[in-house]
Amino acid sequence: MSDRSAPPSGSRTDIGRVRQHNEDSLIVAPPLYVVADGMGGHEAGEVASEIAVETIAMHAPRHADAQALGRAVRAANRAVFKAVGDGLGKSGMGTTVTAAVVEDLTVAIAQVGDSRAYLVHHGVLQRITRDHSLVAELIEQGRITEAEARYHPNRSIITRALGSDPAMHPDLFEIDAGPGDRLLLCSDGLSGMLEDEQIAALLLSIPDPQEAADALVDAANEAGGHDNITAVVVDIVGDEQVVQKRRGRRTAVATIAWTIAFVALLAAAFMGVRAYARSSAYLIDENGHVALHRGLPGSFLGLTLDWPVSGETTIPVESLPASVQRKLKDGIRQPSVESGMRTLDVYRSYADDAQEELLRRSSEESVTPVEEVPVDAQP
Ligand code: MN
Repeated sequence: MSDRSAPPSGSRTDIGRVRQHNEDSLIVAPPLYVVADGMGGHEAGEVASEIAVETIAMHAPRHADAQALGRAVRAANRAVFKAVGDGLGKSGMGTTVTAAVVEDLTVAIAQVGDSRAYLVHHGVLQRITRDHSLVAELIEQGRITEAEARYHPNRSIITRALGSDPAMHPDLFEIDAGPGDRLLLCSDGLSGMLEDEQIAALLLSIPDPQEAADALVDAANEAGGHDNITAVVVDIVGDEQVVQKRRGRRTAVATIAWTIAFVALLAAAFMGVRAYARSSAYLIDENGHVALHRGLPGSFLGLTLDWPVSGETTIPVESLPASVQRKLKDGIRQPSVESGMRTLDVYRSYADDAQEELLRRSSEESVTPVEEVPVDAQP
């Protein structure tokens, strides 16, 4: 990640118009972005939120690994407890945390409390996190509406926070974002003052992320600024490496497709050759005798296409004309097994003629000595 440029981002935290202190904290340390909303009052809330963001920054993964980010948030929880023991802040202090690691197009989020993560995905604002708050539970139970929650007397009661339960665990999210998407992390001072539609309108209409963050905080202040307001805006860009990675994946897919096509073509070619081989035949010298085979002499792509038909015959190769004998060493192609049979018949007659000639000669030779010893001369 360190060799890549950080995505464009903007951030701002503001005291608001009512509070005397800003207990929110934020950190922008690409690939990490965190918003924390501290509680416990002066010299407590801001201590808890500050400890949280700094501890998460120390332990956060460099990759969009939600589990690892969750472990960093749990480390921050322990750090808040330890701080109280060390005399930092005040007993009972706590903080929300919404942390994100943005790696290319993947966003890992770990969240505790009512600070939210939103994603503008393909031009539509989506709420990623679910508030850990009393009013959120009442909304889920259908007992109050979203609009009623804004004015609910217990709207600031949160059901999960760092510093309240040593066994606390964050909600984890891993999101596949698209190039051009925009991530927003914010404290309830923003989402409590603005409707989602207003947030979406500002995020969609202001291209610069810092100007967008400023506009969101300004709008929350204009709406009353009842609480501290924090916004972090991160533009998700499909950087060149990601685009190349995707291009590489496409190339790999194309290569596989072409390989399959090539193998199919090869198989078809082989089947064609095999079919051709099945229909053809050849004669060959086998241990001094003529043999008829279906197929082709030799091999094709290391595969033998040969089916012996006659096996060795009784036709001696030496009984055939010298030119035929030479050709039989490599095999003599025949248009079909049938014509190969006919050629064998011809060879057989050659062989028979040669045999007859041999017999005739040997009978002549055997007769001659008899003639040399007349019967009459015998006693
Ligand atoms: Mn708040």
